[in-house]
Amino acid sequence: MFLQHLAQTSPSPISIEIERAEGIYLYAPDGTRYTDLIAGVSVSALGHGHPRVVEAVQRQAARYMHLMVYGEYVQSPQVLLAQRLTALLPSSLSNVYFVNSGSEANEGAIKLAKRHTGRSEVIAFGSAYHGSTQGVLSLMDDEDYKRNFRPLLPDIQHLAFNSIAHLERITARTACVVAEPIQAEAGVIVPQNNFLQALQKRCKQVGALLILDEVQTGMGRTGTFFAFEKYGIVPDILTLAKALGGGMPLGAFVASQAIMNSLLHNPTLGHITTFGGHPVSCAAALAAIQSLIDEGWISQVEQKSQRIKQRIAAHAKVKAVRGEGLLLAVDMGSAERCQTAMQQLLRAGIVVDTFLFCPTAFRIAPPLIITSAQIDEVCDIIGAVMDEL
Ligand code: PMP
Repeated sequence: MFLQHLAQTSPSPISIEIERAEGIYLYAPDGTRYTDLIAGVSVSALGHGHPRVVEAVQRQAARYMHLMVYGEYVQSPQVLLAQRLTALLPSSLSNVYFVNSGSEANEGAIKLAKRHTGRSEVIAFGSAYHGSTQGVLSLMDDEDYKRNFRPLLPDIQHLAFNSIAHLERITARTACVVAEPIQAEAGVIVPQNNFLQALQKRCKQVGALLILDEVQTGMGRTGTFFAFEKYGIVPDILTLAKALGGGMPLGAFVASQAIMNSLLHNPTLGHITTFGGHPVSCAAALAAIQSLIDEGWISQVEQKSQRIKQRIAAHAKVKAVRGEGLLLAVDMGSAERCQTAMQQLLRAGIVVDTFLFCPTAFRIAPPLIITSAQIDEVCDIIGAVMDEL
């Protein structure tokens, strides 16, 4: 049934059936327990079924769900969330446009940059992933993903991430540069040699807007609320999704009010969405942010990261463990060995996943609520599986 009636996009989906989920565990109908080490690809920061998030969803669903297309009515979950989110951000990032997904957040951000600057060129980096809709698909540099969907957006340039020399190609023609502060789907590539600072400087020099895509790195995953905080820079536009909604679908792009107001006129309704900022998603997001803060999860990320890195990197079959916080890539040195490791791990009840652009590594990005004892337990199992490879 799954294969017959649900559109398939992968020849080998994970295909396990999940009946319920709680904390870091997923349960199959026959009771088999899986440990979720990918958090639904960096979504479930608070694990599954966090009581405060569930309660917020239930309460808001009972009050009202969809009322009207985005931006017309005053809906308190949206207003409170925008207020809470911007309080966590530098003062220039004060205005939030809520959308449905990471792709849509980036689409909106790029439209905003074009409209605000009056320029057309968009620059992105090699091995970046910003989503799958046609605009952001155009930012991908992997021709295999794009070839059969052309024509795509014109006037896109790709630069090499971490190449300071390439930054000169950002010019007064450039509307915006879109970058992940830490490249997730590339296999977790971190910026080096003050690359992000140099990027921001170059953007300012030529009047191009810097869009940081924190769809995957945001909401504490790398040990700070937003990854850009580590690098002493502030984007002109920040995009968020994944963990933002606490497990509900929600995306956002955030900018100064002066920039965001460009969507008000010429044309009016510069970006339109029906479901963007769904009140139930916003209520869940507000509860999730509050839980992240009150329960102190983000301050524990670094120590948990070190614990996993040390345990996994020590294994002879592992070539390297890369990453920041709880966004980790375990490089097995070859794609075949990586595939085999993932299959064996699944058999042992551990869910990990591939990266789009790094076939030799698998992802470990667990819910931030994973405990030290759970980390030790999981690392023991991973070690035993690796021994058998
Ligand atoms: N940007 C980044 C960095 C991502 O990792 C993703 C999703 N993997 C997206 C954008 C797209 O998000 P969505 O799938 O919600 O459209």
